[in-house]
Amino acid sequence: MGLIHEAGGSAQISPASRPYPNSQQSYGGSMKDRREELPAQEFDVLVIGAGMFGACIAWSAALRGYSVAVIDKGDFANATSSNHYKFIHGGIRYLQHLDLLRLRESSREKSALIRIAPHLAYPMPIVFPTYGHGRRGKALMRAAMLAYDVLTLDRNRGIEDPVRHTPNGSVIGREQVLKMFPGVPKDDLTGAAVFHDGQMYNSARLVLAFLRSAESKNAVVSNYVSADHLIREKDEIVGCAATDILSGNQFQIRARMVVNAAGPWGHLLLQHDSTLAPRPEPSFSRDLAFVVNKSVCTTHAVGCQSASTDSDAVLDRGGRHLFLVPWRGMTLVGVWHRYSLAHPDKIAVSREELQEYVNEINEVYSGLDLRMDDIAMINTGHILFGPKTAQGPENEHSFAKRSLLIDHAKDGIDGLVTIIGARATVARGAAEKTMNLVQRKLGERVTRSNTDRERLHGGRFNDFAALVDEIEQQLPDEGKHAAKALAHNYGSEYREVLECAAESTYRNAIGNTNVIAAEVIHAIRFEMAKTLTDIVFRRTELGSGGDPGQDAVYQAAKIASAEFGWDKDEMADQIQTVEKILRQGGPWNFVDQLAQTEASST
Ligand SMILES: Cc1cc2nc3c(=O)[nH]c(=O)nc-3n(C[C@H](O)[C@H](O)[C@H](O)COP(=O)(O)OP(=O)(O)OC[C@H]3O[C@@H](n4cnc5c(N)ncnc54)[C@H](O)[C@@H]3O)c2cc1C
Repeated sequence: MGLIHEAGGSAQISPASRPYPNSQQSYGGSMKDRREELPAQEFDVLVIGAGMFGACIAWSAALRGYSVAVIDKGDFANATSSNHYKFIHGGIRYLQHLDLLRLRESSREKSALIRIAPHLAYPMPIVFPTYGHGRRGKALMRAAMLAYDVLTLDRNRGIEDPVRHTPNGSVIGREQVLKMFPGVPKDDLTGAAVFHDGQMYNSARLVLAFLRSAESKNAVVSNYVSADHLIREKDEIVGCAATDILSGNQFQIRARMVVNAAGPWGHLLLQHDSTLAPRPEPSFSRDLAFVVNKSVCTTHAVGCQSASTDSDAVLDRGGRHLFLVPWRGMTLVGVWHRYSLAHPDKIAVSREELQEYVNEINEVYSGLDLRMDDIAMINTGHILFGPKTAQGPENEHSFAKRSLLIDHAKDGIDGLVTIIGARATVARGAAEKTMNLVQRKLGERVTRSNTDRERLHGGRFNDFAALVDEIEQQLPDEGKHAAKALAHNYGSEYREVLECAAESTYRNAIGNTNVIAAEVIHAIRFEMAKTLTDIVFRRTELGSGGDPGQDAVYQAAKIASAEFGWDKDEMADQIQTVEKILRQGGPWNFVDQLAQTEASST
């Protein structure tokens, strides 16, 4: 990277040394389906699970020069990594826990994501209303922000685009807060602190960016291949027995080192062999957030204090914060944590519980008048909570502070490492630690990896606004409004999408959305989409904020049918699957439970 000039806490790279002056060094090539290669060789590293953690590990391993296979039993990022809250935690909240290590880690990881994927990650301003003169007062908040700014002076280092820089925190007056957020509680309101966390524009595509980057370094990346069980020879894991979910074929995948990155399923994959079961057994929290079809503010998020307390906090044991975040012209609200013993395939939420959350939002932010039918989409999943105890959790609202990295050599079994991640934000750094361990276990020197600087697939540009302009010029009037979304989703690789627009109408937007028709073809030809669900929920942003409308789903299905050669029945089935998920609010079977609950209460 070029010369770095320190300037008031941020760093700038001299224009002459910019690596991607006008965006245009393509990664090149499509993602090839190479599943037939899985049984044919011994890989250096087999990664099981292609969520955020698995994808980051695959990229780190491929960059270090290893032969890598990464498999997922579903589509890439089908689980927790596409169903979360999209925050990139900058770490300011850890000040109240006086946990400076975590604060630094979060800030470092936020900067790294913005640096390597400037299309998908950016700073997001959050308004924190201040009250009175005590622990929720302006003076304390100002001091906290100052401390944060000093502790993270390096946060903009190597980030080229000034609009991607995280500014210092600031305070605003009462009037300004009420203008932006008229629904915040007004008694004793003195103003607000404004600081920046980060947001992922599209968390599924962020996972894909890591996978595509790994693939460009020859990783064999396969969706719809499940690891059925690990293969043990004496005291060593040498691979896994796998099933190709698409063909039903069963085979073995062999590797010098297996990394179990199956997230909330990680401990279940180990169950076949009692020696491997983690002790103590991990437990999980079912986290939940939802999109409501009301816009609160299009530029800033707001943190509102709820009645439930954060007992981990050292400085402020007041209510924990619920956030209202701008999302696809609507608002993402959450997050609620609930200790869960459910199997990760059977996560459930009841209508009563959702109603409770809706009520809680109405209490902390008045005037929204949220109702159950305002919920456009539900994001939920399991995240690591901590060790399982007989009496359950002391505090439902807590969650694991660190990812769980297990070297099974401690139980006498070699060849296997398990990582169960705590936050998508820290996945890149956790992947580095995992690969350092893998290299040590392989008896090799730990090589320095540069995943914190190497731009990901789509990240090779320096000026986001210029990229949007460039794309806009290549779209017809009917598609121009999609330029910004294309820049976010594909970044510097947007030409790949336009290449798929053989017919000029394919540059037009689908239905009333920001997705152009060519993206559907691109998803299939370049990104291994296998179903309409993959296309709607994880390749394009069609379903990323809820229902894009019947017309949009139908148009996408028609294009996909022509590309896949689906007959009418198949097309109808594919549409039905997508519509069921949209109707239910999410791709989880928890809504079956919701329906049952509804049925039983009538
Ligand atoms: C509601 C909610 C909100 C959240 N908000 C945030 C947030 O704002 N910011 C943040 O940083 N984090 C957030 N998180 C946490 C974050 O989502 C997770 O830490 C992260 O996504 C975990 O990634 P993962 O790769 O470990 O797991 P997953 O994404 O679940 O991936 C595991 C993968 O393994 C695959 N798999 C499982 N078993 C097998 C098998 N046998 N064979 C092959 N594949 C298998 C699964 O199909 C899955 O794709 C949130 C979580 C939730 C639920």
